[in-house]
Amino acid sequence: DSPVSSNFIRHIIAEDLAAAKNNGRVATRFPPEPNGYLHIGHAKSICLNFTLAAENNGTCNLRFDDTNPEKESVEYMESIERDVAWLGFQWAGKYHASDYFETLYDYAVQLIMQGQAYVDSSTPEQMRLDRGTLTEPGKPSPDRDRPIEENLDLFQRMRAGEFADGQYVLRAKIDMASPNINMRDPAIYRIRRAHHHRTGDAWCIYPMYDYTHCLSDMLEGITHSICTLEFEDHRPLYDWVLDELKTPCHPQQIEFARLQLEYTIVSKRKLLQLVTEKHVTGWDDPRMPTISGLRRAGVPPEAIRDFCERIGVTKKNSWIEMSFLETCIRDNLNDNALRAMAVLRPLPVVITNWEDGKSETYQIANHPQKPEMGSREVAFGKVILIEQDDFMENPPKDFKRLVPGGEVRLRGSYVIKCEEVIKDAAGNVVELRCSYDPATLGKNPEGRKVKGVIHWVSEQHALPAEIRLYDRLFSHPNPDTLDNFLDGINPDSLEVLTDARVEASLANATPDTRYQFERTGYFCADSVDSKPGKLVFNRTVTLRDSWGK
Ligand code: ATP
Ligand code: MG
Ligand code: MG
Repeated sequence: DSPVSSNFIRHIIAEDLAAAKNNGRVATRFPPEPNGYLHIGHAKSICLNFTLAAENNGTCNLRFDDTNPEKESVEYMESIERDVAWLGFQWAGKYHASDYFETLYDYAVQLIMQGQAYVDSSTPEQMRLDRGTLTEPGKPSPDRDRPIEENLDLFQRMRAGEFADGQYVLRAKIDMASPNINMRDPAIYRIRRAHHHRTGDAWCIYPMYDYTHCLSDMLEGITHSICTLEFEDHRPLYDWVLDELKTPCHPQQIEFARLQLEYTIVSKRKLLQLVTEKHVTGWDDPRMPTISGLRRAGVPPEAIRDFCERIGVTKKNSWIEMSFLETCIRDNLNDNALRAMAVLRPLPVVITNWEDGKSETYQIANHPQKPEMGSREVAFGKVILIEQDDFMENPPKDFKRLVPGGEVRLRGSYVIKCEEVIKDAAGNVVELRCSYDPATLGKNPEGRKVKGVIHWVSEQHALPAEIRLYDRLFSHPNPDTLDNFLDGINPDSLEVLTDARVEASLANATPDTRYQFERTGYFCADSVDSKPGKLVFNRTVTLRDSWGK
């Protein structure tokens, strides 16, 4: 189902370079607001900005768009740096819109002196009403023609803290009759007494996004300012500010369609709600569509980059299927994950004709097609554990695994035959007694076919582990379309298995080593809870797509 990959911005940049625009320079930036953790939607923007820069010997900055102090924090800033670096990108420079507060103030003074900004005492509600609607022109504020001297004085006093929050705003004086409401004298500064995580209490006025963004881009010499489609009708304002201030350079804003992914949400506000209301254990819960959640689930950064490249970049909004992200993850892990054996729900099997206390070991390849990935030692002994559902007493016809009197191959080891089924008082199968055929190690049995192959671990050698089977967080394909997106939550998004056993080679598994547990799925050690002696594994993704089946 992979959409055709294309990227129209790549073509724009190639044309600009061919026309020697910007002296052949390409400079982009990724501009997150530090008001939450990054999600898979941000990954699309990160990959786009960093990749286009790298492909053209250009630079990409990381810029924190930190003009809303109440919602922003150092924790969020640090998580963003960690996530961008983990995705594999290095920023040329790290900047903050707050670095520019003094310069932005000076530019605002310049606009006032040019007669293009005024201090307005309208309430936010009045301003909203006066700006009008698409079908009627806006109504100018009585303050619109305030003399320049008075505007300068009031703006200085706004900065000096003489007025209450919300008492005044500074507005750009553009066109109250513009068909584009963004151009109807937008506010560019507001009074807000809020402690800023970087500038502390130095400021009680803060610049608005549209005014800040274009100037920050300009100050960094950005050539291509890439943003999502909802900013398309803000572009005239972006250009107006730079044109009227006659800035030394003028970045080009280009809009693309944001990532919309089925079975999830990509909105920091809603993700924050999931965290604060404890529907998940935190921003890095493996079910979260955050970069940190995907990392903790075991998703390799290369799979995310591959996904972002394969979905392409267009100007048309569309929905990407969750199964496509999962396909990209599987493709990567199938190539790169180490194979290992783990038994999720163990059933003991006693090998009746095996000597008590005896054990032997095999070298088993870590990857069936990649000898360069090496091998590990796996032990076999008197009692082994298999999956409960690899045995059936009354199997359907096509069941290829173990049945009473039947044979099955143990992966990498012998063929065993089920001789006896032991049950408890309630009739549950609690143990099997099997014989092994010594002539079948690495060889087909004589004169008969054994179709089934199952995984196993040696009871004596295996390690206990907790296994967390994560599934999609939402069972509704478009939770955003519900009155309350929380109603779309999948009630079975986590199953915890506390009695699993894994092969001994996993004793020191680290979170950044990814495994395919044979026949079971892709897993990695949990970065928070797993320790040697108390192993915890997270399921990254199942082996095959089982959704909607
Ligand atoms: P949210 O609505 O989740 O808060 P945002 O756009 O407000 O997202 P920012 O921190 O401003 O979050 O985003 C930083 C950059 O990432 C912006 O350039 C934005 O356009 C881009 N971005 C955010 N969400 C997506 C998405 N779903 N797909 C592509 N790019 C996105
Ligand atoms: Mg934003
Ligand atoms: Mg936002």
